[in-house]
Amino acid sequence: MKYISSRGGEGRVTAKEAIVRGLAPDGGLYVPETMPKLNHSLEELITLAYTDLAHAVLKPFLNFSDEELRECVEKAYAPERFASSLVAPVVTPFEGEKLHFLELFHGPTLAFKDMALSILPHLMKASASEEELLILTATSGDTGKAALEAFKDVEGISIIVFYPENGVSATQKRQMITQEGSNVKVYGVKGNFDDAQSGVKRIFSDSELNKKLAAKGIMFSSANSINIGRLLPQVVYYFYAYGQLVKDSSIKLGDKLNFVVPTGNFGNILAGYYAKELGLPINKLICASNDNKILYDFFKTGTYDKNREFFCTISPSMDILISSNLERLLYHVTDTASVKSMMDALNDSGKYETDVKLPDFYGAYTTEVETKKAIAEAWQKGYLMDTHTAVAYHAGRKYTEETRDNTPQVVISTASPYKFAEDVLAALNVDWQGDTAKALSEKSGLAIPEPIVQLTDKPVLHTEVCAVEKMSDIVSQF
Ligand SMILES: *Cc1c(COP(=O)(O)O)cnc(C)c1O
Repeated sequence: MKYISSRGGEGRVTAKEAIVRGLAPDGGLYVPETMPKLNHSLEELITLAYTDLAHAVLKPFLNFSDEELRECVEKAYAPERFASSLVAPVVTPFEGEKLHFLELFHGPTLAFKDMALSILPHLMKASASEEELLILTATSGDTGKAALEAFKDVEGISIIVFYPENGVSATQKRQMITQEGSNVKVYGVKGNFDDAQSGVKRIFSDSELNKKLAAKGIMFSSANSINIGRLLPQVVYYFYAYGQLVKDSSIKLGDKLNFVVPTGNFGNILAGYYAKELGLPINKLICASNDNKILYDFFKTGTYDKNREFFCTISPSMDILISSNLERLLYHVTDTASVKSMMDALNDSGKYETDVKLPDFYGAYTTEVETKKAIAEAWQKGYLMDTHTAVAYHAGRKYTEETRDNTPQVVISTASPYKFAEDVLAALNVDWQGDTAKALSEKSGLAIPEPIVQLTDKPVLHTEVCAVEKMSDIVSQF
C-alpha cells in the first residue's frame, strides 16, 4: 500500500512517511494509490466495538504491525476519553421518521475533530523514527483545540495553532487561549481561515525553512485533514453508524443509507466516500454548506470559483472557500495531471472547471435564517442541535424535497450545542445574561458537558495575534 501526491510529484511513500510529512513536497495531498480491500465482510464489521472496528478499517491502509495499530486505537478511543460508552452514538429523536443523527461530539473538545485527532498523535509517534515533529495547524475553530488537547505534552512533538482572530465562537476561542501544555503555542491571525490555511501551506513548502529545521533534526507535519493520518480514522464511524442502525433494526444488512455531512474542508465527507468505495452501502453523500456555498455551486455547475464574498456565519467551522480535501476526490475520479492543472488554475486565477461526473454526491445549502429556524423547530420536536448540525439537517430536508429520495438519512452531528451556545440561544429566542452554558442548560434541561464546566476557571495563557505575513517568522523563531 503506497501513497502518492495527488498532483503527481515524484515519489511513492509508505503510510508512515505520508503521516509524518503531512503535505507532499509538490504541494499536493497524499492519496492511496489504489483503494485497498478490507479483510472483513460487512456482516463481521458491524458487530465490532469501536476500537476493533477502527483496527479493522485502518489496517489495510497502514504499514503498521497489528500490535502497533492495536496500541494506537486502544489509547485513542479509551472509554474514559468519551462521554458516551458507544464513543459515537446514533440517535433517532423523531418518532416515525427515517432520520438519524450520528453524534460525533462526545470527545474531550466537544466537536467531531476529536474522532481523528485522538488517534493522530499515536499514529505519528509510531511513524516518526528519529526526527522531532513540529505540527502546524490552521483552524476554523474546532481542529485547533482538538489538536492542542491531543498533542499537549507529547514527547518529541510540538504544536503551533493559528486561528482566525475574529472567526471563531467565544467558546472555541476560550478553549484555545486557555490551553495548557509545555509544547504548545496559539496565535490569532488577522485574516480568515483560508488566509491561515494558505499561510501554513506556504510554510510547509518553504524549502529554506525546511532545511533550517532539518539541520536540527526537526520536521514539519500537519494535524489538518490534509494529513492522511487525520482523514483515514474518519472512515471508521461511517461503518459504525451503519452497524448501530442494523443492530436496532432501523435497516437490514445491505440496505442503503444517505449521509448528510456539514462540510467545510471536505475531510469528513471524503471519509464517507472512502467508506463507500470500501463497500459500505451508501446511496448519496449530501454535502451541506452554509452561505459560503462554493461546494454547492461546484456540484451544480462543475466550476469551483473562490472569487466571491466570504461570509462569517453562525457555523464558523464551515466558513471556508478552499476545501482542501476536494483535491483528493478529484484525484480519485480523474488523474494526477488533471488535478495538477486544476490546482494550478486555482492558484493562478482562484478558479477551475471540470466536466467529471460526481454521482455519489449532492450539494445543498442552508442560509443563516434557515439554520436558526431548523434549530428552533428541531428543539420543538425534542432534539437540541448545534449550528453546524442544523445546516446539515436542513440541507437533508431540501434534498428529500428536491429528489423525493426516501432512503434513510444519517445527519452527521459535528458539535455539541454548548460549543455554539450564543447562537443556539438566539435561535431559540432566549434572552440571556452572563453565562451562556448555564442559560442553555436551564432552557434545555440538559447537563452542561464537563469540558465546558472546567473552562470557567482556567487562566488565559495565549494572547498573541499576528499578521498573515508574520506567520513564517513566528514559526522560525519558535
Ligand atoms: C470541521 C467542522 C466541520 C467541517 O468538517 P470538514 O471535514 O472540514 O468538512 C463541520 N462542523 C464542525 C462542528 C466542525 O468542527
